[in-house]
Amino acid sequence: MTAMTLALPEEIELLRKAVRAFVENEAEPLAEQIERDARIPSILLKKAAEMGLFGLSIPPEYGGTGFGELGSVVALEELSRTNGAVSMVICPTAPAATIALAGNEEQKQKYLPPLARGERLASFCLTEPTAGSDATGIRTSAVRKGDRYILNGSKLYISRAAIAGTFIVTAVTDPARKAKGGITVFIVEREFPGFSVGSKDDEMGLRGSESAEVVFQDCEVPAANVVGAVGGGFDVMRKILDRARLWAAARSVGASQRILELSLQYAVTREQFGKPIGAFQAVRLKLADMATLLHAGRLMLYQTARKIDQGEEAVQEASMAKLFSSEAAGQIADMGVQIHGAMGFMKPTPVERFYRDVRAYRILDGTSDIQRLIIAGKLLRSHGLKVAVGE
Ligand SMILES: Cc1cc2nc3c(=O)[nH]c(=O)nc-3n(C[C@H](O)[C@H](O)[C@H](O)COP(=O)(O)OP(=O)(O)OC[C@H]3O[C@@H](n4cnc5c(N)ncnc54)[C@H](O)[C@@H]3O)c2cc1C
Repeated sequence: MTAMTLALPEEIELLRKAVRAFVENEAEPLAEQIERDARIPSILLKKAAEMGLFGLSIPPEYGGTGFGELGSVVALEELSRTNGAVSMVICPTAPAATIALAGNEEQKQKYLPPLARGERLASFCLTEPTAGSDATGIRTSAVRKGDRYILNGSKLYISRAAIAGTFIVTAVTDPARKAKGGITVFIVEREFPGFSVGSKDDEMGLRGSESAEVVFQDCEVPAANVVGAVGGGFDVMRKILDRARLWAAARSVGASQRILELSLQYAVTREQFGKPIGAFQAVRLKLADMATLLHAGRLMLYQTARKIDQGEEAVQEASMAKLFSSEAAGQIADMGVQIHGAMGFMKPTPVERFYRDVRAYRILDGTSDIQRLIIAGKLLRSHGLKVAVGE
């Protein structure tokens, strides 16, 4: 079963073809260089910008592609067939979605077109030293002073931060209310006084995703850069988290597809006991499990993307898709390494890199445990029992 056998609109299949050609011809030849240098060469970013790949989550009236979520996840699947960092930098982003879905007209006109053109990259800053799964635990403060807010605090593990110019930041505007109306979302520019980016993280995988700490020291942010209502931070986040989780699922599906293809190729060429190893039942069983997990994950991915494109709420389905596909990618990568034997354990065999890259998808945008708590919370609520995610 290949991605091509699931009927999608013609324009989305054309998008898939174009992105696959970009990945095969431009990105894949640089995969090992990206791994070694932990950075994506600017020539690749330039070519992606020329193709409009930075406009994936941005409406066409602000310079984006207008393909919707189905187009975004298909493009992300393809971008994930190479070094995982490529799909973390050239991708639909939560910051662009935040501005597109919750920003006012002025903010959309000012910030979205440069993001769509790839002239500026963006980061989403939520996680802090004391607040990971529990987003209500953030301590970064924002205090109003005239027509500005003064931000103090720091954010950790922020993807793209080392090279981004625009930052969506959550901060506490009312410490007494916190999650109940005390957290606000801001747009912060790299050039604002008091803003700085720390040294880059040294990551196990996704090397080149330019993840870093972000620091606010009396950082001055115009009051006009509040996204949504003051105190409405969780309402803003609710609008975009289902998309961010779906994108993690798309990365997992795209990487899994490539791992399966690499494993199939190896299974028909590597010989032991006088036969291709694919002739042995133990290897065939693994290939069957890999393909089945992949197919199920892809169906969940497309169904959820279609639901979002129809304007329906898909919080539970997005959590399910992310949980299933990221856990499946871990299993598929493990089986892929096993099929490759010792070669799968050695650099620069691609499955070795995929094995490390896909590990992140079970953690970022909410760990697998947190997805389970969201899914169960929805189920129980429908039966009259209200439980908070952290309980
Ligand atoms: C590659 C990568 C990129 C990232 N990019 C960004 C980014 O761009 N912006 C950003 O803001 N953050 C980013 N993050 C951070 C990510 O969102 C957090 O790592 C994630 O939310 C988990 O938080 P934590 O690491 O502090 O783990 P913790 O919250 O400390 O969790 C530790 C463990 O405890 C478990 N746990 C916690 N609470 C519960 C509970 N109630 N019930 C059961 N188990 C629980 C978790 O599942 C986990 O296994 C990134 C992380 C990674 C790895």
